Amino acid sequence: MRITSRVLLLPALIGLVTACTSTPAPPTYRIGFSQSVSGGDWRQAMLAGMERELVFHPEIQFLTRDAQSSSRQQQQQIHDLLDAGADVLIVAPNDAQALSPSVEEAYRRGVPVILLDHRTTSPHYAAYVGGDNTGAGATAARYAAQLLRQRGEVIEITGTPSLVASERHQGFTQALRAYPQMRVAGTVTGDWGTTTWQPTLTRLLQQHPETRLIFAHSDLMAQGAYEVCQRLGRPEVRIIGVDGLAGKGNGLEMVQQGRSTASLFYSPGGEEAIRVALKILQHQAYERENILGTIVIDSTNVLTLQQQAVKLASQQAGIEQQQHLLHTLQATYASQRTVLYGLLASLLAAIVLGASAWHAARTNRRINRELARQNEANDAINRQLSTQNEEIRAQRNQIAELAEQARVETEAKLRFFTNFSHELRTPLTLIMGPVEEMLTGRNGTALQPSQRHELGLIRRSTQRLLQLVNQLLDFRKIEVGKMAVQARPDDLVAFVRELVEAFEPAARVQQVALTLRPAEPTLPGWLDRNVLDKVFLNLLSNALKYTPAGGQITVSVQAAAEGRSLQVLVTDTGRGIRPQDSPHIFEWFYQGEQPGTGKGSGMGLALAQGLVRLHQGQLTFSSQLGQGSTFTVTLPRELPAALRAPNPAEPLDISMDEPLALPVPEVEAPVPEAEALVLVIEDNADVSEFVTRKLRPHFRVQAAADGKAGLQLALELIPDLIVCDVMMPGLSGLEVVARLRADWRTSHVPVILLTARNAPEQQVEGVQAGADVYLTKPFNPAFLLESVRTLLANRARQREHLSRELATPIDPPQAPHPDQAFIQALTAQVEADLTRTDLTVEELAHALGFSRMQLYRKVKAVLGTSITDFVQSVRLQKACELLRDDSLSVTAVAYEVGYASHSYFSNSFKARYGVAPSEFRARHQAGVS
Ligand code: ADP
Repeated sequence: MRITSRVLLLPALIGLVTACTSTPAPPTYRIGFSQSVSGGDWRQAMLAGMERELVFHPEIQFLTRDAQSSSRQQQQQIHDLLDAGADVLIVAPNDAQALSPSVEEAYRRGVPVILLDHRTTSPHYAAYVGGDNTGAGATAARYAAQLLRQRGEVIEITGTPSLVASERHQGFTQALRAYPQMRVAGTVTGDWGTTTWQPTLTRLLQQHPETRLIFAHSDLMAQGAYEVCQRLGRPEVRIIGVDGLAGKGNGLEMVQQGRSTASLFYSPGGEEAIRVALKILQHQAYERENILGTIVIDSTNVLTLQQQAVKLASQQAGIEQQQHLLHTLQATYASQRTVLYGLLASLLAAIVLGASAWHAARTNRRINRELARQNEANDAINRQLSTQNEEIRAQRNQIAELAEQARVETEAKLRFFTNFSHELRTPLTLIMGPVEEMLTGRNGTALQPSQRHELGLIRRSTQRLLQLVNQLLDFRKIEVGKMAVQARPDDLVAFVRELVEAFEPAARVQQVALTLRPAEPTLPGWLDRNVLDKVFLNLLSNALKYTPAGGQITVSVQAAAEGRSLQVLVTDTGRGIRPQDSPHIFEWFYQGEQPGTGKGSGMGLALAQGLVRLHQGQLTFSSQLGQGSTFTVTLPRELPAALRAPNPAEPLDISMDEPLALPVPEVEAPVPEAEALVLVIEDNADVSEFVTRKLRPHFRVQAAADGKAGLQLALELIPDLIVCDVMMPGLSGLEVVARLRADWRTSHVPVILLTARNAPEQQVEGVQAGADVYLTKPFNPAFLLESVRTLLANRARQREHLSRELATPIDPPQAPHPDQAFIQALTAQVEADLTRTDLTVEELAHALGFSRMQLYRKVKAVLGTSITDFVQSVRLQKACELLRDDSLSVTAVAYEVGYASHSYFSNSFKARYGVAPSEFRARHQAGVS
């Protein structure tokens, strides 16, 4: 509906504007006017007549040219007017003969020619407009006869010889013949002007005193004649002129003032010529010959004509004024019209713009509706997706929970195994000691063969058990990243040879040929024997286990990768590995087909591979079922500094300036035996030497000769255990123990007191002072050794217990602990600087009155962790507290507990507690509500 009205409105407006802008303009015509001369009142009257007539035809363009009496110029001008595009030509010829070719040219170019006042010799003109000169001459003759009562003499003054003059002359003389008593006394040839012919006239008048009338061909010559008559005193002579024009000195005035009797008037033909031209242009019928009539002006009508002339003049002035007014109005109209057009154009533009805006709005509305529909559809899809996402998220959470549960359970099992293995190791070692001594006869007992056999069985079984337990512990160490490679420059060939030699007796018993094939006599490289011997022992024992009697085991040692690697290949001709077992043999506890009674544990290869990887090497194998297998260990010849053993003089491999916020996950693991430092304080040099010798194969041992030096050394080294004699000069053992316990740098160190006296009260004293074990001399060295091990193991357990308590965010440790004071002080110190991200070990140690080394060893001994790790645990425990209260954002909590980065905080938190901080908070809140 709206569209229809808009569609109709638009063309209407366009029509209106077009109507306004294109009022049909009348066809424009050009009328050219070529006149021989423009001077003289008669010629002026002719031009004025034309202009008067053209006032009513503004569409006509009027072009005039004045040839100034030159025929040649007039020819040229006619040519120019034709070139200028004149549609009709009005020619007042100067010379009938000379201008005929020009008239002919116009005829050829199809332009009609109107001859005015004079004719040319060419017949090719469209119309003629002019006076009747013959008629004028005849009228003059008849009027003269009437004046003179048809008798008397007259004189004629002709114009310059021309067609006009001769026609007037003829008309005059012929009409006079009708009056027999009238006679022409003489004819004077004038020049249309007033002077040159006057003497001739004077003479003629003197010769003919009866002359009663003079007919002059123009009013100007009539004036000349009047002057002559006045001079001759002949006022009675009547004078008739021709032209009868109004204006100063012209015919009308002469008649009115009595200087001439009459004037013959006929129009100069200007108006008539224009009227004919218009008819031609408008293709109307017109007269070809337009002869203008003649009237006589004399005293009877001169006044009327005079008044008419004045009126005409004033009307002309009025017309001109009105014309001027009209022009002004037209200009105003034109400017208003322009403004109107502008307005209309603006209106039109506004309408068009409005219409397109309306159209655009409609389109927009439609698009919006479409979009809304699509959005609804999208929303529906999104709702569906989010439901699905929700489900997926729920499933994922469930899976994550199950995985976490599994991880926790596995972890608990492994921890149980590890602890259990530790528990097993001590009694096993205690079994091994006496068995060994019995077999070697060191305890002085002679054995019977059957007893020896049985003891051998016990020894082998115990060794096997110990091996299993050790493997389990090694496996755990690798798992938790506590197994460290400490390589030293070594010769691989020599090292492998030792191991192969150890296997030779067993190989002989099994009737398997065991050969070592070194590619070169020596192959030096960086090796950690502790790590690698477990690898090669496993490979050799597997080869022996899976190769039947008569088989062959070859151990090749060679360089590879252009000397950058070392390789050990253990090749056997055994039963090979089944294809279905191949992908799994490196998995923990995987056992393939077992020979006879299943002897394996499924840990050997997994451990070997883990250890080789720790050593930055690779363990690969190839096998042919029934043909044999080859296990290849490839090791890099060089190892990075981190994997090289520190200088033996350096007690520990730690960088004391490491930033405290570095995450070191996991607690636990006892100080490896070889790493444990035992301080022996004994004044008796022999006993000191004996104890040291007994302990040295298992621990790092330092000795002090008296209590004071011992105490000094204890503070310096912070040993893992102290073996101290009670009876010493200066500081007694009991005093040493009391001081050690009083100083929290050493309060944690287990002490074994040695005394010769078997006095129970002394034992009580010793225990009261803080000793852990009291041994009386002479003591069993194996018992001492195992006591040391047990104490270290206990210490480790305490550490683990303490660390676990510290690591549990929900239940902070409640029970009192011997090292509680130290931990509390350390915790307080850390908490005081909790927000600092740049806290260093140095600062912390200094604040507690420790050296860096002392603090490090103390923390390691008490908690089994590095200081860094401890500080992190304090920070994260504090974070737990802050997270329970939701007044701080997680980021703010991170800053509050000294983490510069949110993500680092988040990762550390998650690594320790298994949940992200935000999730911890959410769970806590869920639990609270
Ligand atoms: P196990 O204690 O069972 O020997 P390992 O981890 O040492 O466990 O080895 C895993 C399995 O790989 C073995 O159970 C055995 O099936 C296979 N295997 C290992 N070494 C050899 C070998 N030299 N020849 C044949 N089979 C072997």
